[in-house]
Amino acid sequence: MRKAIELSIENVANGGGPFGAVIAKNGEIIATGVNRVTASCDPTAHAEVSAIRAAAAKLGTFDLSGYEIYTSCEPCPMCLGAIYWARLDKMYYANNKTDAKNIGFDDSFIYDELELKPENRKLPSEVMLREEAIKAFEAWSSKTDKIEY
Ligand SMILES: [Zn+2]
Repeated sequence: MRKAIELSIENVANGGGPFGAVIAKNGEIIATGVNRVTASCDPTAHAEVSAIRAAAAKLGTFDLSGYEIYTSCEPCPMCLGAIYWARLDKMYYANNKTDAKNIGFDDSFIYDELELKPENRKLPSEVMLREEAIKAFEAWSSKTDKIEY
């Protein structure tokens, strides 16, 4: 965790947001990530997602079972989702959502949106061309040599 915190502090001086993350196993650091949203013009370049991408690329797998993530701040919904998708064993965090909100990083509106039915969310969305899109799912279902994830 001290490495994640150190990265988060360094990243402020390097033009990034105040967030750092580390993926480790048995105390050995496998990969790190920092927030590069503005520096990379990438809204998904949060520290946790960056660390997951780096760890997966280094290990050559999409399944990070057996590894743990240390993040300098409680993750946003996107990163929490990525942590679940990566199947990390455990998450540790230092700063919490309220600490982040207090300096202008408020993701509570996304958590609030998730509680609502799609038609009641601020993001307009509608179903279209499902009968065409379902063909990809049919192809996937009948594929015998797929790698499930
Ligand atoms: Zn995030």
